[in-house]
Amino acid sequence: MAGEVNASGGCLCGAVRFKVSGKPLRMAQCHCVDCQRATGTGHASNATFLEQDVEVSGVTTSFASPSDSGNVLTRHFCPTCGARLFLTSKARPGMITFAVGAFDDSNWYEPQFVFYTKRRPRWDITTESVPHFDAMPPPKPNKS
Ligand SMILES: [Zn+2]
Ligand SMILES: [Zn+2]
Repeated sequence: MAGEVNASGGCLCGAVRFKVSGKPLRMAQCHCVDCQRATGTGHASNATFLEQDVEVSGVTTSFASPSDSGNVLTRHFCPTCGARLFLTSKARPGMITFAVGAFDDSNWYEPQFVFYTKRRPRWDITTESVPHFDAMPPPKPNKS
């Protein structure tokens, strides 16, 4: 399990930058169809942080859509270069989930779960060494 993360990142064109300092609440990879569509690849690699540990500069555009569980997920991206940056969930107020590839250096990242393996495309590989879930993730991360 990762300790404190101090990392920054941003979009492809550099118009949006962010900084994170704090412990990731959850690190997970998700193969759901929405994550595949949103990323254009076989899964999303995500890390969730407390909003208070995050600083974002620059303007993002967002798109909100309901997840399978009925939560509304809002995905934020750069309006200029289209790079995916982070998402927020109505079910997880006060938390921000980053697309890990948006960090300048993401070598601190260690996925703890893999979600929606029933949707995993044959050609996409995620780690076998952490708990897998057919679909829904376990209960949401808690704030403490
Ligand atoms: Zn950009
Ligand atoms: Zn997903």
